Amino acid sequence: MSTFKIAVLPGDGIGQEVTAEAVRVLRAVAKGSGTSFEFESALVGGGAIDAAGTPLPAETLKLCKASHAILFGSVGGPKWDHLPQEQRAERGLLALRKELDLYANLRPATCFSMLVDASPLKRSVVEGTDIMVIRELTGGLYFGEPRGRTPLAGGGERGVNTMVYTTPEIERVARVGFEVARKRRKRLASVDKANVLTVSQLWREVVTRVGRDYPDVTLEHVLVDNCAMALVHKPTHFDTIVTENTFGDILSDEAAILAGSMGMLPSASLGLAGAGGGNVGLYEPVHGTAPDIAGQGIANPIAAVLSAAMLLRYSLNMGPHADRIEAAVSRVLEQGHRTRDIAAKGEKVLGTTAMGDLIVRGVEESA
Ligand code: NAD
Repeated sequence: MSTFKIAVLPGDGIGQEVTAEAVRVLRAVAKGSGTSFEFESALVGGGAIDAAGTPLPAETLKLCKASHAILFGSVGGPKWDHLPQEQRAERGLLALRKELDLYANLRPATCFSMLVDASPLKRSVVEGTDIMVIRELTGGLYFGEPRGRTPLAGGGERGVNTMVYTTPEIERVARVGFEVARKRRKRLASVDKANVLTVSQLWREVVTRVGRDYPDVTLEHVLVDNCAMALVHKPTHFDTIVTENTFGDILSDEAAILAGSMGMLPSASLGLAGAGGGNVGLYEPVHGTAPDIAGQGIANPIAAVLSAAMLLRYSLNMGPHADRIEAAVSRVLEQGHRTRDIAAKGEKVLGTTAMGDLIVRGVEESA
């Protein structure tokens, strides 16, 4: 029997509530699968500031580095908002990404057919949307040097940021793009601004060259402005998208809203190849700690549960078991079960644990 060690970092607010459900679902997967999971929890974010004076304690980082994958909730909240930027709860997540060199962020935007009417787009446009946006996470405009502000002699200031990428940085995220596309519908759109930016011209050349190693994947290059338009005009055109940090930040949020609710969106951040047969990765719902509903037992656990499915697929090479989780979620939704955030007016509403119970049962039945 193979055993995988999973670091569980629920964090703050509803992170605590939804992560517990994701762990239960993983336990259900393990039953009779020939695989066992060893879960170990650690502090991160605001809770870690309160207990240890830092948002990412050394023991938490040590545990993460010694694990096959990390199941993360969310961090932050009003209690810690007054702290200086460098000591904020959210720093715990940023530091973890940096320490683990998590350079590729994967965010699926799947429009579940039974929730189409929750999308801001018309049914005829959005139905069938199933996109994976891969965002480069450690380079580009957000981290490039030089950066900063300098005073001008005649008054005022000059502000500068730099979009910079090296061939190896582009190559490794491009490979993630092609590998992911291979597990999906084998179409990859590389998004850049090569008509204006020199760095994008390098990006385009490197992605094209890497693509020669993946003859089974169809590659297209799309300008970022065209991509932003096409996402709301014809989202079904896209399968897998790979792009620079800033472009990806914006496009993944745009794609996310197609799916309707924050409570439905999982994500993965992948680093270098790990012991589990895939990449060491951090898996977390896109949403935050939702202070407005925290502690009430009404948060939607589906984003966290689908993050656990991504963990199986991308870090542990357990794709068929990830399919079981995704199928169980779809079935529960098809049967009309809803948490408050995805319920239409008058529909019966379930709490976090009751929704978790149904998904666990669905997973167990598919064993
Ligand atoms: P949020 O995602 O926490 O909440 C936005 C809205 O969506 C709220 O109305 C909330 O109730 C709702 N919502 C979110 N997740 C839900 C779920 N699972 N089920 C039902 N409803 C859900 O964003 P915010 O309010 O901007 O941020 C709150 C705190 O979370 C802040 O401190 C912020 O910094 C932090 N945050 C952390 C992360 C992270 O850890 N990755 C991400 C985003 C925000």
